[in-house]
Amino acid sequence: MLHSPVAATALPQSAPFPSLSLLFFCFYFNILAESAQNGGGPRMSRSRSRSRRVRPNVLVTGTPGTGKTTMSSLLADAAAMRHFNVGDLVRQKGLHDGWDDHLHCHVINEDMVCDELEDSMEEGGNIVDYHGCDFFPERWFDLVVVLQTDNSVLHDRLTSRGYMGAKLTNNIECEIFQVLLEEARESYASEIVMPLHSNNVEDISRNVATLTEWINNWRPPVRLKFCLKECMWLKHLVQIVFEGQCPIHLLVFD
Ligand code: ADP
Repeated sequence: MLHSPVAATALPQSAPFPSLSLLFFCFYFNILAESAQNGGGPRMSRSRSRSRRVRPNVLVTGTPGTGKTTMSSLLADAAAMRHFNVGDLVRQKGLHDGWDDHLHCHVINEDMVCDELEDSMEEGGNIVDYHGCDFFPERWFDLVVVLQTDNSVLHDRLTSRGYMGAKLTNNIECEIFQVLLEEARESYASEIVMPLHSNNVEDISRNVATLTEWINNWRPPVRLKFCLKECMWLKHLVQIVFEGQCPIHLLVFD
């Protein structure tokens, strides 16, 4: 009978309770993962505490004209969520560094926008609508929706909005090259990024229905660390089992 060397090393024979060893490593790696998720990277610097939200936060992004505000507003009504149109927020609260004459838009101050939204995001139950997504803290969002529109349809929507010249061309190219979808996939876990078509009113209805159902079925993720906090006896047991030879100091019981 062949024995796998991997299996042989995975369960150290010296440990008196192999199942407890496994349990410990599950806890250990979970804590390391949580620590990296909440403390690592420049976008995590605004982290105050682990979120306890009971309703999800949804980011709706996409090229201007794909229907973010239209859909977000309907979704907010259908699912009883708060809707933040970041463009409006920037204008109303002056969260910018002046006006860009070339692109005919405000130069958004990303830090001011994040500070403005932080408390609401901590509470949960928000839909954030903006044509960019890489500067928000990753921990804020449970779902990132990327709306997509066929080029000819988008062209008509943007020209009827008065876009022309470089502003029109830039936005059409942005949609052709799927810039926002790529940005979303680079900024968030791929399993929470959801591209949706937004070409006609049927698409809006279907998207609102799909997302309302998703929001209503959402449950906060079970946090193992929270369970551990309640189990101080486990810490003592692990210390006894490993006789002080494992990096027990990495377990944080806050
Ligand atoms: P965004 O917020 O992405 O810039 P808007 O929600 O302001 O886009 O929509 C731009 C225009 O396109 C609006 O006139 C809106 O009524 C229209 N529109 C948006 N989504 C759709 C859709 N799925 N089907 C038809 N028209 C749409």
